[in-house]
Amino acid sequence: MIKASANIPCPCGSSLKYKKCCRRYHQGALAPDALTLMKSRYSAYATGNADYIIKTTHPDNSDYSEEKQD
Ligand SMILES: [Zn+2]
Repeated sequence: MIKASANIPCPCGSSLKYKKCCRRYHQGALAPDALTLMKSRYSAYATGNADYIIKTTHPDNSDYSEEKQD
C-alpha cells in the first residue's frame, strides 16, 4: 500500500506528484471527465482512500470497473 503523501508520484500514472494531480479530486473537486475520474479512482484505491471510491461509485452503476472502459 502506498502512503498517501502529497509528494509521491501520483499512482494514476501521470508524471505529476499526487498533490498536483489526483489529490484535488480526493479532496472534493469534481473530475472534469471520465478518464480523470477513472484515474483519480485508481489513485484513491492505490492510496487506500476507500471513501472516495465509494463516493464516486453510482448506486445504479455499482459494477463499474476500470477493465470495462471502452
Ligand atoms: Zn493522478
